[in-house]
Amino acid sequence: MKLSFLGAAGEVTGSCYLVDTGKIRFLIDCGMFQGGRAARRRNARFAFKPREIDFVLLSHAHVDHSGLLPRLVAQGFGGPIYATPATIELLGVMLPDAAHLQEREAEREGGVPLYTVAQAQQCLERLVATDYGEPLQPHASVRCIYRDAGHILGSAILEIWAGGRKLVFSGDLGQPDRPIVQDPERIADADVLLVESTYGNRNHKSLVQTLDEFAYALTDTLRSRRGNVVIPAFAVGRTQEILYYIGELRRQQRVPPMDVYVDSPMALAATRITLRHAARAELPALEGVQFSERLEDSMRINRIRSGAVILSASGMCEGGRIKYHLKYNLARPECAIVFVGFQAAGTLGRRIVDGAKTVRLFGEPYPVRAKIFTIGGLSAHADRDALLGWLSGFRRAPRQCFIVHGEPLAAHALRDDIVRRFGWAAAVPEWNQTVSLAGGAGAPGARP
Ligand SMILES: [Zn+2]
Repeated sequence: MKLSFLGAAGEVTGSCYLVDTGKIRFLIDCGMFQGGRAARRRNARFAFKPREIDFVLLSHAHVDHSGLLPRLVAQGFGGPIYATPATIELLGVMLPDAAHLQEREAEREGGVPLYTVAQAQQCLERLVATDYGEPLQPHASVRCIYRDAGHILGSAILEIWAGGRKLVFSGDLGQPDRPIVQDPERIADADVLLVESTYGNRNHKSLVQTLDEFAYALTDTLRSRRGNVVIPAFAVGRTQEILYYIGELRRQQRVPPMDVYVDSPMALAATRITLRHAARAELPALEGVQFSERLEDSMRINRIRSGAVILSASGMCEGGRIKYHLKYNLARPECAIVFVGFQAAGTLGRRIVDGAKTVRLFGEPYPVRAKIFTIGGLSAHADRDALLGWLSGFRRAPRQCFIVHGEPLAAHALRDDIVRRFGWAAAVPEWNQTVSLAGGAGAPGARP
């Protein structure tokens, strides 16, 4: 039995793992790489033949986990794609939207889109719902159970029994005690464990400190400097949680009056789905929040000089309407850009966070004069202590533990902590590495 790391190995995007039991082959996630031209090249080619894959187990809806599914189907994959009901609903808006963005980009820059809206629609027909905790048998020789990962609506940890072994894939793990989502479920055991490490080398500030930071960013910009606040945010997950916190800060009268705009048609759809699914009373407060669906509404926001809080996607500033809001606010010292999610290497968001003095937008250079805030505590990912806390739920050492979905510094730091604290055999796999899971106690990281 073999496991290949085809994405989110040594980085945070392109999540995709291929399991080959000798009898069958299946994928865990089929995500898109993000971050410039190199990512585009890697999205264009699969390392396997799509028609030879029997089924896909999808952890959650984010595009860096699901974004290449339509291409997989277009290139001949004919099996089912398993996901939770909420994930399936979210994909119903996200995949056609991703296709639409690619069609537009292909028109603008010449070339062929990765997939079309029609192909995204065809992909949606392959989705099969599975609930948390429900036994699933995608093949006579494979069993699986989805568990709540507490990262975004519908996100899952996967427990998989195949080839006489139990595999656990953490997926993206949420930070405990967050609104809208539950805490990640604890898992008792695994033979082979894949754990994410986005914040494997960092702790978030406490929620109290995080909200203080957020309140300061809003007050400083809106009241003291009289500018706008631009928040790049994933349409799914981040946007709803940020709206929830803005609602809380307003209720506590800790922030000045503001006009909140959510400029992402997908965020509106995702917010509606969230309102339908989220069981808790902790739902985003939508009073006084303006969602702009039409392009005219979006362009009207560009004329506002002060007092606006603008949430828009994409969360890493790689595409979508956020780029227009950066164009109109980034060069103005009275404005602020507030980053609330992880910015992957190679993305425009990362360049700004890393202190670039000038960035290119639509082919033109723009000076970065706005105040830049990075509020890690608003991320949807577990921090170092939360990751270690989740790992401490395992009652026996996994025979093999692979640290994935993290940039090298973060992944290696978490590996070192795991070795020190739990004494497990743990390794950081490389992109395109294949490891053997057959023959009993295989050495982690061993090449076949
Ligand atoms: Zn995610």
